Parts: sequence; structure tokens; C-alpha cells
Amino acid sequence: PSTSGDSIRRRFLEFYAARGHTILPSASLVPEDPTVLLTIAGMLQFKPIFLGKVPREVPCAATSQRCIRTNDIENVGRTSRHQTFFEMLGNFSFGDYFKQEAIKWAWELSTVEFGLPAENLWISVYEDDDETFAIWHDKMGVPANRIKKLGEEDNFWTSGATGPCGPCSEIYYDFHPEKGHLDVDLGDDSRFIEFYNLVFMQYNRKEDGSLEPLKQKNIDTGLGLERMARILQRVPNNYETDLIFPIIKKAADLAYESYSLADESAKTNLKIIGDHMRAIVYLISDGVFPSNIGRGYVVRRLIRRAVRTGRLLGIRGDGVGNLEGAFLPLLAEEVIKLSTNIDPDVKTRTPRILEELKREELRFVQTLERGEKLLEEILTDALLIGLRNGTVPCISGKDAFLLYDTYGFPVEITREVADERGVGIDMVGFDVEMENQRRQSQAAHNTVKLSVEDGAELMENIPDTNFLGYDTLFTKAVVEG
Ligand code: ATP
Ligand code: MG
Ligand code: MG
Ligand code: MG
Repeated sequence: PSTSGDSIRRRFLEFYAARGHTILPSASLVPEDPTVLLTIAGMLQFKPIFLGKVPREVPCAATSQRCIRTNDIENVGRTSRHQTFFEMLGNFSFGDYFKQEAIKWAWELSTVEFGLPAENLWISVYEDDDETFAIWHDKMGVPANRIKKLGEEDNFWTSGATGPCGPCSEIYYDFHPEKGHLDVDLGDDSRFIEFYNLVFMQYNRKEDGSLEPLKQKNIDTGLGLERMARILQRVPNNYETDLIFPIIKKAADLAYESYSLADESAKTNLKIIGDHMRAIVYLISDGVFPSNIGRGYVVRRLIRRAVRTGRLLGIRGDGVGNLEGAFLPLLAEEVIKLSTNIDPDVKTRTPRILEELKREELRFVQTLERGEKLLEEILTDALLIGLRNGTVPCISGKDAFLLYDTYGFPVEITREVADERGVGIDMVGFDVEMENQRRQSQAAHNTVKLSVEDGAELMENIPDTNFLGYDTLFTKAVVEG
């Protein structure tokens, strides 16, 4: 059977459809749940059912949910398994089947449907969950030396201080079984990959902290599509699967690089672009446009990172001769080509996505180029002073703030560039400057608001925390234009 990303997704859904599950569409990356910014897991659209707030419509369901995890942004390209954007395959039971079936099917899916050798699979269980240990050991025949008991932090799921909760159990693939069973760390990225997480929602935690068994027990699971693709396609990381690699290939072409010949740092940069471009396109497609607050700021940050990463790879302009051009739209086209089975609506939104990216990129490049010159001088000074005094070179909070406030140069980029050169940055000093600015700008905002007609629209673009500098530039452009 085919191991393409598309067929893995299809086979997963068909497997659970054949076992009574209703296949439901992915929810938007913008969740209805007001407590989270973006959709981080497949269970999110079912949370009201799990919490007993709305009745179930079906006893059990399966989905392929597109997810964004910004907390993994630093891992992208550095571990083999983390993206900011990924698809989580999931099967869910709303008071229907429980542990026995969930484990049996997860095992059958992994070893029969996807054909993974049982000897390569490791299991983690919650240390107090003897029932789950017994199912894996006695019923599935997994030897005890491949079942790891982990603590509350790793293997107990809660949705808050009180409410539904329960133990979880994960399945890991072992790329190096020859390393044996001693001193095993399932988090070791060079040996293992976690691919399937089964959550057994079986308790209600009461105000006093005690656990009472739920009448209606639920199952919530997540299997990373790119992780399964990586295992089955026998590539060294998620980025080299057919779900992401075509975007990397395109970026490498624009940089006149070959991925296979590139050095490690160029490879990391290409992986970052491959990941971020997917996140950016799916966010915009779901209606998240670059701005300075909330979700809009997430997409803006990803775009800036993609632009800067592209420049580090030597991509200038549109990469094929037009220096006034933008390259993100060309990469976005690759993402869109791959979108058919992830979200068919993306294609219909192509013009808007490309337009938005072009505008945002060109605007940011101007900012970057102005800031880069000044940053270079600041870095040279910091290195000289460090050398002279025999201290660790460091950018002052004042300088970082000057770059940010006057040049619109994002501080996280200052930090990244400085880091690449072995220079530190005084973030405490920066925060002090920020706070001063915030206080002063309160009054300024009021003035701006009074001086333009469409005050409400403009106010939306004025953040109350981040990026006053960049925003000032934008506000000016709006007022002048
Ligand atoms: P890890 O420990 O590797 O960070 P996790 O325990 O945070 O993963 P879960 O919250 O259990 O992940 O999510 C369920 C599944 O979703 C994981 O088993 C994995 O297959 C997939 N997954 C989670 N985070 C990512 C990510 N950043 N990129 C790709 N797949 C992911
Ligand atoms: Mg994680
Ligand atoms: Mg984990
Ligand atoms: Mg997990």
C-alpha cells in the first residue's frame, strides 16, 4: 500500500470508519473555544462534548485536524519531529468505547494497517494506571521492558484545576532497537519518535483535589500525520516527507542551493521555511491576517521569520532576478499545490493569500534593510567592547529599543541575529524601555484617534503591548495615504 502522506491520512480515516466512527472535517485553525488562541489539537472542537456542555451527535468520530503549536517554534528544524503546523489524526469516543478498544485499535492500526514491526514499538503509561499496563502487556503482548511508566507531568491529562482528566498512554517508534533496554530515554530525538497519544478521560477532579470516576468515559487521541509519514517513508525527519519537502525544494531552488548538498545550518533554515510557509498559508486561509495583536501577530511573526530565513539563505527579491519582487508568494504556491487533501478551500483563496503575503513581505523587507545596517554597527561596537573588557559582548536594552522603536526592527530578530554572532542582549533593559514607551504612548494614541476620521479602524492597528515602532510606521502610512 502507498505510504504517501495523503494515503496515510485516508487509511487512518478509513480504518476508524470501518470501526463505526463518523468521519468529520477538520475545524478551523481559529477555534470557537475562547480560552485558546489557535487550534492546538484534534480534541478542541469536541471539548464542549467532553465537558458535558453539549450532547454528542454521534458516539464516536475520527478527524484529521490541522493544528498550530507556536510553543514548538524554537524546535522547528532543530528536532526531527516538530513543526508549528501539522495535521493531527484522531479518533474520539464520547462515552462510547474505552481503553480496551482504544488500545486494541491503536495497536492494530500501527502494526497491521501501517505494518510497523512490533519489536520497534515502545509504550508509555501513567505510573498509577495498572489497568492500561495490563492491557498492553497481557492482551497486546508488549514485553514489560518496552513499557515505560511515566509521571503525572508526562502522562496525565487535565483540562484545568478541576473537571475531566485522566491518564494517557503513548506509542513510540524506536529507530535503533539495537541500543537495547538500559538507560532508555523516550524523549531522545535521535532514537525515538512519539507518534500516537491516547488520552483516557475517566475522572472528574473535584474542588478538594480528589478524583471521582466519570459516568461517561471518553477517549481522545492524536497521531501526528507527518510523524507517521516520516516513519513509513524512511526519511530522517518530518520535513523530508512528501507533505513538506516540495516547499523546501522550491526554497532551495530560489536560493540556488541543493538541499542534499547544503550544510547543516542551511538545511535547518530550509526546514524552517518549509514549516513556516505551511503555517502562514493555512492561517491566512482560515482568515488570520498579519497584525500586531493576538493571532494576527502569530502570522506576522511567522512571515517575518520566513522572510529573514530566506534572506539568510541568500534569496533576494523574488529569487529569479526581480529584486523588487517578493519570494513568499512563490513558496505559498507550492503550499497551495499540496493543499487539496488537507483543506480544499485553500485553493479558492489563492489570490487573497498571495496578495497578502506580497504586501507584508515587501513592507517588512524595507524595515529589515534599514534596521540591518544599524544593527551591524551596534554588533561591531558590542564585540569591540567585549574584546576590550574581556566580557561577554552584549547589546544594551537602549540599543535594542532604538532598533525596535525607531526602525521597526523586531526585537526577536535582533536577538536571533545577535545570537548567531555570539552576542547577548539585555532584555531586562529592553523591557524597561518598552514600559516607558507604553506609558507615554497612551496619550499619543488619543491624539491619533482624534486626528483621523476612521478612528476605530486605526485603533485596531495600534497594539497595546508589542510593536509600537513598527506600528508607528504603518500608522503614518495610513494617515499619509
Ligand atoms: P512531543 O513530546 O514530541 O513534543 P507531544 O507529547 O507534545 O509531542 P501531543 O500533545 O501528545 O504531542 O500530541 C499528539 C500527537 O501529535 C503527538 O504524539 C505527535 O504525533 C503529534 N505532534 C505533537 N506536536 C507536534 C508538532 N509540533 N509537530 C508535529 N507533530 C506533532
Ligand atoms: Mg510537545
Ligand atoms: Mg510527548
Ligand atoms: Mg504526547
